[in-house]
Amino acid sequence: MKLHEYQSKQLFAQRGIPILKGKVATTAQEARDIAVELGGRVVVKSQVLVGGRGKAGGVKLAKSAQEAEEAAQQILGMNIKGLPVRKVLVDEAAEIKHEIYLGITNDRAAKKPVIIASGAGGVDIEELAVSDPSKIIREHVDPLLGFREYQARHVAAAIELPREHWKTFVQIATALVETYWATDATLAEINPLVITKDNRLIALDGKIVLDDNALYRHADLAEMRDLDEESSQETEARRFGLSYVKLDGEIGCMVNGAGLAMGTMDIVKYFGGSPANFLDIGGGAQADKVTAALRIILSDTKVNAILINIFGGITRCDEVARGILIALKEINTKVPMVVRLVGTNEEEGRRLLADANMITATSLADAAQKAVKASKG
Ligand code: GDP
Ligand code: MN
Repeated sequence: MKLHEYQSKQLFAQRGIPILKGKVATTAQEARDIAVELGGRVVVKSQVLVGGRGKAGGVKLAKSAQEAEEAAQQILGMNIKGLPVRKVLVDEAAEIKHEIYLGITNDRAAKKPVIIASGAGGVDIEELAVSDPSKIIREHVDPLLGFREYQARHVAAAIELPREHWKTFVQIATALVETYWATDATLAEINPLVITKDNRLIALDGKIVLDDNALYRHADLAEMRDLDEESSQETEARRFGLSYVKLDGEIGCMVNGAGLAMGTMDIVKYFGGSPANFLDIGGGAQADKVTAALRIILSDTKVNAILINIFGGITRCDEVARGILIALKEINTKVPMVVRLVGTNEEEGRRLLADANMITATSLADAAQKAVKASKG
């Protein structure tokens, strides 16, 4: 789950990371009022759960409350990478001397968190990582020892931060790591962390991505979820305990088990198809879950074939078949469906589906090929 910039910065501020004053507005008039309160010179920033807002025109400086209102008017009508802007953050404007990148994320290969930093932060950091990777500094955090001060100083030296800022930088880096641990985040990032013209170190932007699997122990953070920003499919999937990730392809996949779902997507691609989604209905799924899953898959209008791949262990094939039948009664669809049911109660499952006008398959390779064929008409 991604947090908005304003939410991330609030969490940073709670641990002592310096941020500028600001408030969220949903209308241009509100943005104007906030700008008046902050003294006129502000930056108006779209709050959408995607990076690169600056480059997309979603971050605008305003020299007066009037300009702030106009900027908010423009930004609130925008669509950034497919996401409509419904909120803006109006912050005091900073006078920037230098932009730094500072983040922490999981390094799966190293099995440790890693601090990533660069003296050349800002909106071009992704390009820099490709064109000049030596400008990106990495420092692993040992989970048993924790983040040590000398490591923060090492990072400060490596990004050639002027000495006078080291003390504050150590505090900021330590607080960032603490935020990351305490929230069970998979990413906590400040880009840019700026040195202002009056020589302060301030977090101008913030981004936190939380681990969904740890959200159950952070009721306060779970509440920060912005339902406006989520597709209705994602909301629906969560309600039924389904893991669903929308992709760009045409073949809707319904599978039990995350590993099998990945394998199914791979084999669809292997035979020249393109998966429309990842969907794991989980072990022991009952008819209601299966119905919800089919409804979610079919709500994607790009889907022109469905591949259902069930390996019945704890999950019973007859339960899945019943779910499919209920769903088909509810949703009138002409999208062809290929079903592979093997394992517990497979005969009963197949018998139930016999009259349902489905394409059946026994091996996964066979099923995938049939789904690709159906998808290509
Ligand atoms: P992002 O593009 O989504 O990462 O949005 P950011 O919040 O990082 O803003 C993008 C860029 O806008 C920053 O790298 C800054 O260069 C600039 N910017 C953001 N806030 C301010 C501000 O208060 N003053 C000035 N001068 N520039 C700002
Ligand atoms: Mn940024």
